Amino acid sequence: MELPPSAAHRAAYPLTRLPERVRTRLTELARTHAPLAAYLYDPDTAAARARELRAALPDWAAVYYAVKANAHPAVLAGLADHVDGFEVASVSELTLARTALDARTDPRPAAAPTPVLAAGPAKSTAVLTALVRADAESINAESLLELHRINHIAQRHGTTARVSLRVNPAHIPLTGSLQMGGVPSAFGVPEPDVPAVLAEAATLPALDVVGFHIHAASGNLDAESHAAYVRWCVTWATDTARAHGIDLRQIDTGGGLGVAFEDEKPFDTARFGALIADTPPPPGVRVILEPGRYLAAECGWYAAEVTDLKNSYGHWYAMLRGGINHFQLPTSWDIVHNIAVLPVDDWPAELPRPTAEDAPLTVVGELCTPEDTLLRDVRVDRIRAGDLVVFPNAGSYGWEFAMPHFLGHPAAERHVL
Ligand SMILES: *Cc1c(COP(=O)(O)O)cnc(C)c1O
Repeated sequence: MELPPSAAHRAAYPLTRLPERVRTRLTELARTHAPLAAYLYDPDTAAARARELRAALPDWAAVYYAVKANAHPAVLAGLADHVDGFEVASVSELTLARTALDARTDPRPAAAPTPVLAAGPAKSTAVLTALVRADAESINAESLLELHRINHIAQRHGTTARVSLRVNPAHIPLTGSLQMGGVPSAFGVPEPDVPAVLAEAATLPALDVVGFHIHAASGNLDAESHAAYVRWCVTWATDTARAHGIDLRQIDTGGGLGVAFEDEKPFDTARFGALIADTPPPPGVRVILEPGRYLAAECGWYAAEVTDLKNSYGHWYAMLRGGINHFQLPTSWDIVHNIAVLPVDDWPAELPRPTAEDAPLTVVGELCTPEDTLLRDVRVDRIRAGDLVVFPNAGSYGWEFAMPHFLGHPAAERHVL
């Protein structure tokens, strides 16, 4: 549904807040790749986020990057030396992760497991077989049937598979307003079923149950509540392992660290690290974080040329070469994703050049549907046809999460700084 423009206008993202190297590169690309519709990635930014996060954590905590947030090979290569491993869900993600891991500065010993974890509510035999053959550090099993499948595959390959049981907890008491758990879900085993599933898993000879996996948070900006969540996971997993004779080695707390988009307060990693340090797991047990968005969001920019600009009954619209076919996040998660306007001076002399100044603007894509609206009512100093609209914080759930086939326009390019 197309909503009418509202009266409240936010200011556009200041151009000066885009790193200069990003502005320079996008300006070059606008010249050489016109009409531009592209992601620009800076793997060093993702690596810096991973280093900061790890530096804030106790040494029993490990960071596995969730590849689904951004699977570009250069981003994975940039992260590989700065994370403990990768979290994957498909054969394709597993292959990309292994390529990045193989190029690490310090290669792992040949006999060591591949530092990948795997989740996914309906893992196919093809995915499970690839994970068993790769000797994945842990397959996060989502059901009793899946445990049986993994057991069969491991037996056929004459090996043992490490698995963690993904659990859908009944209740996670947290500080603040965030309460989680007890909601019906396709993900994981409901907590009341856990004892029976563990008992049956113990009868499957090719499984090594190493721990538990809980992924219950999303976009959490509050270090206090996320620490409370992780501490709850540690206590729950420790108690449950003890009660059911599980040789606990890992407690996977999933992803869900948030990224501040505009005026929000960023996630305080130092505070988070200090808070979880109070609740260490038993000796020899690792506590795993699987951030996707937190590591990747800031390493990407989505930039698209303004193909046309028009005033419709008093309100300005900028139409982009691109849209939700490249960048669907703002529409699907109700994020207000602000833009910067990067001026491009080249313009063909024979064409008129529509220009809006100090005006509220709605930014839409090239698709024939009003769903293709990326931002409403942003106030820009000036925008012209031919300028670039740039979305910062587009490094996670951008290119991967879009719908490139609808209407068949060219896919977004991907470039690396
Ligand atoms: C999506 C996902 C993540 C990453 O989530 P973010 O919110 O991007 O941190 C981690 N683990 C699992 C199992 C996931 O499905």
